[in-house]
Amino acid sequence: MHTVKLGNKDIPVGKIVCIGRNYIEHIRELGSQIPDKPVIFIKPASSIIGEGGTIVIPPHSSDCHHEVELAVLIGTEAKNVDANNALDHVTGYAVALDLTLRDIQGTQKEKGLPWEIAKAFDTACPLSAFVPADRVGDPQKLQIRLTVNHDVRQDGNTGDMMRSVAELIAAASAYFTLEAGDILLTGTPSGVGRIVSGDQLLAEIEQVGTLSVSVA
Ligand code: MG
Repeated sequence: MHTVKLGNKDIPVGKIVCIGRNYIEHIRELGSQIPDKPVIFIKPASSIIGEGGTIVIPPHSSDCHHEVELAVLIGTEAKNVDANNALDHVTGYAVALDLTLRDIQGTQKEKGLPWEIAKAFDTACPLSAFVPADRVGDPQKLQIRLTVNHDVRQDGNTGDMMRSVAELIAAASAYFTLEAGDILLTGTPSGVGRIVSGDQLLAEIEQVGTLSVSVA
């Protein structure tokens, strides 16, 4: 059982629901289509590592990309919820990385196959501790940033999401029940790129915190 910290509590994690293509500049940099519905996939809890953890890039990939994302912790069951009430189901926010084997994902996309082998590997989901939702103001007004070896790679604002956190919860909850302990990753701003052995990553989200991890 994988757990995450919310304040001083250990919360068992259910599923990690991830949203792809939620920032327009990131869609452009990958040459992807703007989706008419949210692009949704799931990472397993076994992919989580915490603060100070070590990313292990699988040997079958030579192009692992960083994607810094705002993570949302679900506190109460949400099924078919309306966007107007969706944030009532949020109990915390954290800094996440949606690590992606871009070479493997590219092959899967070409063949029309699922992305999980590119997104769900062990260590693919570094996560900071969660801060209680009532300590974060508007989740759509947060600077989000990633440096690799002190070079700024991603620098955006959650205000640039195409669909808000509330809209994403509403949309995801129409496909499957979100349960307490589930986590939502809300997409990445532009600037994604390759990480290699020895890299030091520092991800930061205003009011939420920081996450530092390294690559084995
Ligand atoms: Mg992502």
